[in-house]
Amino acid sequence: MQTVFPPHSPALLPVVGSAQTYPVRRVYCVGRNYAAHAREMGSDPNREPPFFFCKPGDADAVIAIPAGQTGGIAYPSATQDLHHEIELVVALGKGGSDIPVDQAAGHIYGYAVGLDLTRRDLQGQMKAQGRPWEIGKAFDQSAPVGPITPRQPDAPPMTGAIALTVDGALRQQGRLEQMIWSVDETIARLSTLFALKPGDLIFTGTPDGVGALTRGQVLHGSIDGLAPLQVRIV
Ligand code: MN
Repeated sequence: MQTVFPPHSPALLPVVGSAQTYPVRRVYCVGRNYAAHAREMGSDPNREPPFFFCKPGDADAVIAIPAGQTGGIAYPSATQDLHHEIELVVALGKGGSDIPVDQAAGHIYGYAVGLDLTRRDLQGQMKAQGRPWEIGKAFDQSAPVGPITPRQPDAPPMTGAIALTVDGALRQQGRLEQMIWSVDETIARLSTLFALKPGDLIFTGTPDGVGALTRGQVLHGSIDGLAPLQVRIV
């Protein structure tokens, strides 16, 4: 049976050390998963637990940035306040529902450095009105992701530094151990809400230091042990 137009192809992420690519299905994101970022966004991490939102998983939203390249990301329409959020991205290799925390790690295919780009002004307006966040979070090119580094079998949870520089100046800096929900807890919780599948990405939240971007700036995101991510806002 022919389709009425060519079917859309998924975003394909390069895999470190492999000729194969990783086809993306969905993008789940954790909000306020680092206490210092929750505070800078005006909430109390002791009273409000992290939460989930989504971005599209298609190749217009998820932009694969190959190793060693500086990917061009268009400054989006309808905002005067595009913000960077550097995040650890977990790529699932195995799906499931109601995954126990102690089995969650076995569902991970690998890890990458990603940016949860945000129209902060629009997100703020939607928050104030109690409306959905999509116009602030789910726009085209809102999710640049670097190459996936496969997880080794029986590897311990990821630890180490996560950082973002803009034109060489340090903007965000934290440690993965500072997450409020660990990666394993996040997978377990998410799997009670959605049936997870291979190809699902989870953006695990950003440390503090989020801020505005302008055209021409170069962002360099790094996480210990992973291929770095570099993009230029154009
Ligand atoms: Mn985020």
